[in-house]
Amino acid sequence: MSRKPLIAITGASSGIGAATAHAFSKAGHPVLMMARRLEKMEAFGLPNSICARVDVRDRAQIAEAVKAAEGRFGPVDMMFANAGLLRLGDIAKQDPDEWDEMIDINTKGVMNTVHAVLDGMIARKRGTLAMMSSIAGRKVYPGHTIYCGTKYFVHAVSESLREYLSDYGVRVLVLSPGVIETEVLDHTTDADALASYKANKARMGGGIAADIVADLILNAYQLPQNALVQEICITPTRQKF
Ligand code: NDP
Repeated sequence: MSRKPLIAITGASSGIGAATAHAFSKAGHPVLMMARRLEKMEAFGLPNSICARVDVRDRAQIAEAVKAAEGRFGPVDMMFANAGLLRLGDIAKQDPDEWDEMIDINTKGVMNTVHAVLDGMIARKRGTLAMMSSIAGRKVYPGHTIYCGTKYFVHAVSESLREYLSDYGVRVLVLSPGVIETEVLDHTTDADALASYKANKARMGGGIAADIVADLILNAYQLPQNALVQEICITPTRQKF
């Protein structure tokens, strides 16, 4: 019996990454789940899955996890570079260590993730890179200065990769969600910035479920390889900005 191809996901321990792992697993794909909280991913108990404790800042860890999973399930056919960190903050007051963390995880971490599968996809002339940006990669928001910078980076790199990889038939899909219900707000230390975000979120009636984003990714992936959804921008209907 031929098996569906391997899907790899960073940031699979919670939120959108976890929902995407569940969606692809339900659709019959083996999944490689990568994040730092191994126990959370193991607790999902997904069939034909490998959970790897990976920090996306460590290029070698991602490469090793991909190699081990490919040895068992064959080549990665979609890499979801999803791991990311949001630390809202007033740019004049925010500790630059928080800038460093966001830049390292959201930009270099994404490139480390892409690097682990790029050569293979080019050689096979197929594959999909799903790149997690944000609506904050399309426009700026108060308290999001560095976060927006990292997500604009993802948009820019993704468009360049899309053009480059089009010659090889490899797809690059950008995700630009608005407010989604996940653990994303748990890492902000600036109380005022957090309160302002939460007030706006309450005004729009809350965020939408991560499953909705996961199902869109699955639908886009399931199109024939010669059909590319270049970007998915999905927000709560009542999200104004
Ligand atoms: P969560 O906080 O629920 O998920 C973030 C995931 O990233 C976790 O699995 C976390 O795992 C992982 N992660 C963070 N840092 C690292 C690291 N250094 N190495 C490996 N994994 C890491 O939030 P979301 O699901 O919302 O976030 C997923 C992506 O979606 C992010 O890139 C975020 O910017 C983006 N996004 C989210 C939106 C929202 O409203 N929720 C809107 C637009 C974009 P662990 O801590 O176990 O390592």
